[in-house]
Amino acid sequence: MEQQVQRVRSAFRSGRSRPLRFRVQQLEALRRMVQEREEDILAAIAADLCKSELNAYSQEVIGILGEIDNALRKLPEWVTPTPAEKNLFTMLDEVYIHAEPLGVVLIIGAWNYPFVLIIQPLIGAIAAGNAVIVKPSEVSANTAEILATLLPQYLDPDLYVVINGGVPETTELLKQRFDHILYTGNTAVGKIVMEAAAKHLTPVTLELGGKSPCYVDKDCDLDVACRRIAWGKFMNCGQTCIAPDYVLCEPALQSQIVQKIQETVKEFYGENVKESPDYERIINAHHFKRILSLLEGQKIAYGGETDEATRYIAPTILIDVDPKTKVMQEEIFGPILPIVPVKNVDEAIQFINEREKPLAFYVFSHNNKLIKRMIDETSSGGVTSNDVIMHFTLSSLPFGGVGSSGMGAYHGKHTFNTFSHQRACLLKSLKREGANKLRYPPNSQSKVNWGKFFILKAFSKGKLGLLLLALLGLLAAVLVKAASY
Ligand code: NAD
Repeated sequence: MEQQVQRVRSAFRSGRSRPLRFRVQQLEALRRMVQEREEDILAAIAADLCKSELNAYSQEVIGILGEIDNALRKLPEWVTPTPAEKNLFTMLDEVYIHAEPLGVVLIIGAWNYPFVLIIQPLIGAIAAGNAVIVKPSEVSANTAEILATLLPQYLDPDLYVVINGGVPETTELLKQRFDHILYTGNTAVGKIVMEAAAKHLTPVTLELGGKSPCYVDKDCDLDVACRRIAWGKFMNCGQTCIAPDYVLCEPALQSQIVQKIQETVKEFYGENVKESPDYERIINAHHFKRILSLLEGQKIAYGGETDEATRYIAPTILIDVDPKTKVMQEEIFGPILPIVPVKNVDEAIQFINEREKPLAFYVFSHNNKLIKRMIDETSSGGVTSNDVIMHFTLSSLPFGGVGSSGMGAYHGKHTFNTFSHQRACLLKSLKREGANKLRYPPNSQSKVNWGKFFILKAFSKGKLGLLLLALLGLLAAVLVKAASY
């Protein structure tokens, strides 16, 4: 493992990942890989998650192609140094921020969207000029294998390397030194990753999960709200990090929500959900059993059918859920939607704030004031109002958690920034030494007074004022110099 990481580091030190032209070539090659090997990729995802090829394409391929196109279009702008504001002492110098690659970065993916969760961060890591090691989830073994086969065929095999394996291999990998680690997965392992990274002072981006609440206001189009909630909840059989985890609403709304979601399920998946090509299965027996255990002692208002052999769990709605029960203590990550009755919006806000900060928050209402109030008075990684999931689809928005749902963010330019160091650059000349006398020893009261005057005044002046102050500065330097003889 150590040697593998060393090889990638040597490749990074060769400097070839840095030129813009090279980054563009690699991103174009990645796009070619996705286009030319689409069938193999979709087949691998289908095998891992019992997903139809159409769903796999919509959920894991379209977004990636869009993200690559976006990076290719904007990369020349992203790599251009950004001029920075100057002060009195640097008026004539060159001052800018340069985004430089961090070095060798590690991307650890999760199984629920096994292709996207590796490729999306990889796009930004390449765009930022890094060398990359990716570690796909061993739980989605088919996608892990296809990534290990395809990436070296299309990308520079020394700079971009796939390492596959389970907990022992990842543990070994985490002992190595990286310049950044982006981890997607559960919070418990997130802590392990952060602890390992701390040994090398490696910065981390942790894309974790949590229980994302969804408040449904009584002043709302329930037909539309329930259709959108059902779409986001039952997509990928509920195994989506930003799926609405539970619904909060006034008690009287519960039965209407159950009825409308039931109608929507029929509309989406037909009379027999089990037969629908659009309805996935639970990833493995461990998660199947874990999700079943969440149903114990609950009032099932709809669904509840299961089949262990195929790991099928029907879209299920629970009502009058007690917040102290197991289903409300952990992220569900399955097709079960608990409804927790609350008296009003105040109680909903209090409910959300008494718990860990979620990855997403959803609110459905005609009342914009209520929506803004809920956003102002709660915290979450991201928010969508009157819909679910959709904030994820915008490259312009940073995607990430807060508190126990994670730290750092990516997507679009945010990924580029995550994998770049914002280097502060001040380029001075060896001339104009006279102006520096003010800051050199021996110090004197008059130098301090002039310094105070220039520094404090400089912050409250515009460009013209600064120029005037610069001239005054020169005069002061001459005076101080003359006084010191
Ligand atoms: P997982 O089991 O695939 O684990 C994720 C990665 O962690 C894998 O690559 C695995 O090899 C590694 N890993 C597991 N145990 C480890 C250990 N002890 N030491 C080191 N590495 C270890 O995925 P998961 O954790 O079941 O993923 C589901 C969770 O991920 C949910 O909480 C979900 O909300 C979250 N998630 C978050 C996002 C996001 O973008 N924020 C996206 C998808 C999933």
